[in-house]
Amino acid sequence: MRRRDFLTSGAALGAGALSGCVSVSDVYASNTAPDLTGDALVQPIGAPFKPIKSSMDRVTRTIVGLRPFRKPGPRLEAVKVGDKDVVHNYGHGGGGVSLSWGVAEMAATLAKGYGRPKIGVLGSGAIGLSTAIVLQRAGADVTIYAQAFPPYTTSNVAGAMWHPVTLYEKDQVTPETMTMLHNASRIAFSRFIRYANDPNYGVYWIRQHSMSNKEMNVSEPYIGYDDLYPGLVRNQPGGPFGFAYHDAYYTLMIDPDIYLRALVKDFLISGGRMMEISFEDEADLMALPQNTLVNCMGLGAGKVFGDETIIPARGQLSFLLPQNDIDYGYALGTKDYGLLYSFPRKTGILLGGSVDKGDWDLTPRADEVTRMVEGHAWLASQL
Ligand SMILES: Cc1cc2nc3c(=O)[nH]c(=O)nc-3n(C[C@H](O)[C@H](O)[C@H](O)COP(=O)(O)OP(=O)(O)OC[C@H]3O[C@@H](n4cnc5c(N)ncnc54)[C@H](O)[C@@H]3O)c2cc1C
Repeated sequence: MRRRDFLTSGAALGAGALSGCVSVSDVYASNTAPDLTGDALVQPIGAPFKPIKSSMDRVTRTIVGLRPFRKPGPRLEAVKVGDKDVVHNYGHGGGGVSLSWGVAEMAATLAKGYGRPKIGVLGSGAIGLSTAIVLQRAGADVTIYAQAFPPYTTSNVAGAMWHPVTLYEKDQVTPETMTMLHNASRIAFSRFIRYANDPNYGVYWIRQHSMSNKEMNVSEPYIGYDDLYPGLVRNQPGGPFGFAYHDAYYTLMIDPDIYLRALVKDFLISGGRMMEISFEDEADLMALPQNTLVNCMGLGAGKVFGDETIIPARGQLSFLLPQNDIDYGYALGTKDYGLLYSFPRKTGILLGGSVDKGDWDLTPRADEVTRMVEGHAWLASQL
């Protein structure tokens, strides 16, 4: 076990916080007033798309992340490890940011059931932070242990569009896990809506389309059930870029750098502690002072707990200079450019289109950048 002594509220809030002089109300008073008037201009769902300006000279950065994809779906269960009670909350694939508040509520309910006031949360991505905050709000004294904190987590690489997808292999997921995912999605979306259009959290409304030249699959509901998605239309003929069919709905865009920074701040100003530490295996947990632990280590949980069902699903994203006139996202497959998706982040237009299962390579690939930039430019030319 590698361990470095304490990273704590002082890092984010300055010396005043360390000496206990900063009250919660002081910190909130220092923030700019949230703009809740709806600064995201969201057009009617069928309004024409303005073209994205996709060219190499507008690319600002390219990043890679490994989605924690677990073949049977996310693991949410309480187990005994030595003398510790461990609640597992990991393996959320391509939907961990979306699901976060829902699975956090569920994991926190299990953890609170042990009745101990002090709880350790392992991991500081979207799942760990939301779980820690839910526990704090329930009155627990929470310490987060992790080897990396925002902005250095996979959660910071996420798109992140609110729609839990790429969550399981269809032939391995149980009906119980499906029920859990539907319920968690409903809780999570209702929590995210409370942050919408508050610039301190980087969460805002967009319209999202998926397109295909074959009829869209309507045999199953969307995760969380269809009524969760405002404005949803499915398998409509025609649509943007000349495709034969499309689905469309309104959803939330979550800018993970802004959002996770805000969650860290919320956790620290409520008295939470953060400790940098790297666990090698289950035995390392025995040294922790808390006897109730919640495991939110994403892909890292595989190594520590010997879970071979979790694998990386590599994703590469490039960002273009921002465009104020783009309020839509999309996902589709093309004959010449393969899978492509785009989200309208305010800090830049996100270009994506890779889900490579079993690939651990974190190095950006130049040929992927070219494929995405040219593919999205070709789509824009079809408008
Ligand atoms: C390209 C890409 C696009 C995505 N798009 C979306 C999207 O649009 N919407 C969406 O909802 N999701 C999206 N995702 C998925 C999302 O990023 C993940 O599901 C989510 O980040 C998982 O969160 P987490 O907190 O479990 O994991 P992480 O963010 O990886 O956090 C894990 C934490 O555990 C710690 N840890 C790991 N191992 C150890 C160890 N051995 N010892 C100590 N600490 C450890 C880490 O340091 C970290 O703090 C995307 C992912 C990628 C890569």
